[in-house]
Amino acid sequence: MASTVRPKARSTIHEFDLIHALHQRHSRRTPLVIQGIGDDAAVITSRAGQWTVLTTDLLTEGVHFDLRTATMADIGFRAAAANLSDVAAMGGAPQYLLAALAIPPTGSRQHVLHLYQGMMAACRPHHIQLIGGDTSASRSGWFLSLTLIGMVPPRKALFRRGARIGDFLYVTGTIGDALAGLQLLNEPPPRANHHPRAATFSTRHRQFLIGRHRRPTARVAEGRWLSTHRFATSAIDISDGLSGDLRHICEESHVGVELDLSALPLSTACRAYAASRKLDPVDLALTGGEDYELLFTVSPRQRRRLEQSAIERGFSLTCIGTIHPLRFGMQTLSPHDRRHRLANRSYEHFT
Ligand code: ADP
Ligand code: MG
Repeated sequence: MASTVRPKARSTIHEFDLIHALHQRHSRRTPLVIQGIGDDAAVITSRAGQWTVLTTDLLTEGVHFDLRTATMADIGFRAAAANLSDVAAMGGAPQYLLAALAIPPTGSRQHVLHLYQGMMAACRPHHIQLIGGDTSASRSGWFLSLTLIGMVPPRKALFRRGARIGDFLYVTGTIGDALAGLQLLNEPPPRANHHPRAATFSTRHRQFLIGRHRRPTARVAEGRWLSTHRFATSAIDISDGLSGDLRHICEESHVGVELDLSALPLSTACRAYAASRKLDPVDLALTGGEDYELLFTVSPRQRRRLEQSAIERGFSLTCIGTIHPLRFGMQTLSPHDRRHRLANRSYEHFT
């Protein structure tokens, strides 16, 4: 890799200085890292027999984030949370991070340092180590690709394919909040806003929803707990929307599902937002991606132990449906026992 990240002489970023700064600020020595940043590749050792969980995500400016509504630190935080959430959904403990970055001509060293501040803020509670990456110039917008490595004890990984007929479907936390937050950020500024009731929507709720979009919490502790106790028969994280992510569980497990719409966990803020904009909060919950909550199935035998243990640990879980035979398909149950087919209305990149 050339030593400047921009092809033109007006570059203000020097690649090796930048990597040195990132190394100084964000990498630590620990016994399991034989070689971190600073060589051709990182070298790690792990406890014998552990399974390795690997995930990577690519974020593109204009597709996954918009610098008009997010700071560099928010973008870094969200990118890390997305990867943490994938490892959480496998029941793994996240440990090592690699970050590859393409910087546009408008990008400065300060931008990059802020991006890493956000990224490492999301990683810090989990003691994740930055062990490498790559740095390049971009001619059009930012690109950020993160690779996260985690560990899970043998045979304890959670897959999408394990749901069985009769299992109960659960979700952590509340859903729809991140989409509501994103919609709030994309609304015209208050004075030009013609929503007569927009003013009745409290600042506290607004901040909560925007926070859920900008700084989502990956459910790492919950994922490990589900795996350690073998509570979950299958699991996935909600990154594209409940309706689509649930479809993945059903397809991979060859089962159907009945989703109880009146049971969906909606935050007070999400309900208040939906009411003020005349939207159905259930639609926000079904279609909103990026809540990074875990969706998982539990056998009837484990149900009581799961719920008891969740209370003891202060984990928030809601039962939102049951698994049926494949021929049942995917159905929703609305108030007054009305049944409908579940339409797939998740986020799709290429449509
Ligand atoms: P090479 O040319 O051999 O790929 P680089 O000069 O690209 O080496 O990288 C030198 C070291 O710095 C490597 O350990 C690499 O993993 C790390 N590195 C490069 N860019 C980044 C980055 N954006 N974030 C973290 N580590 C990085
Ligand atoms: Mg390189």
